[in-house]
Amino acid sequence: MLTLLRDLRRLRSGLALPRPERPGSLAIRHVDAGSCNGCEHELVLTSSPHYDLQRFGLGLVASPRHADVLLVTGTVTTRMREPLLTAYRAMPEPRRVAALGDCALGCHPLGTASELVGPVDALFPVDLRIPGCPPTPDAIAAALLELLDRPAGRRLGRT
Ligand code: SF4
Repeated sequence: MLTLLRDLRRLRSGLALPRPERPGSLAIRHVDAGSCNGCEHELVLTSSPHYDLQRFGLGLVASPRHADVLLVTGTVTTRMREPLLTAYRAMPEPRRVAALGDCALGCHPLGTASELVGPVDALFPVDLRIPGCPPTPDAIAAALLELLDRPAGRRLGRT
């Protein structure tokens, strides 16, 4: 096995393959904190062959323990507050948070109610804000690629 890996490395360096334009990757854990599912429909489209974000190293993962980014949709409801905090605390540092859609940003397109905690940044700092109701797949893809290019700790996006 080791011989095979060594041979593959030698073959790769012999071919002098160009370095990818965007080195690195981001594992994304998506949590629906109380959305109408409109944002999810657009998010799913970013995995379609047209955008194919996996080829840039962006992929959804099933566990927050494997995630670099917590991507939240919807206004946070009282029932989703604790699961969201649990997911955030389970992530390894440096962890980043993206708020997807006007609900997650606190613009209340669906109105307010006593069962709502509020926007995502009422619970923890948000590194990437993706406005829209819902944002288009173009906007989601562009924002996530922007996040891939920036070092952790730098806040991005518009409100
Ligand atoms: S921002 Fe719009 S599409 Fe997204 S969850 Fe809220 S109401 Fe639905």
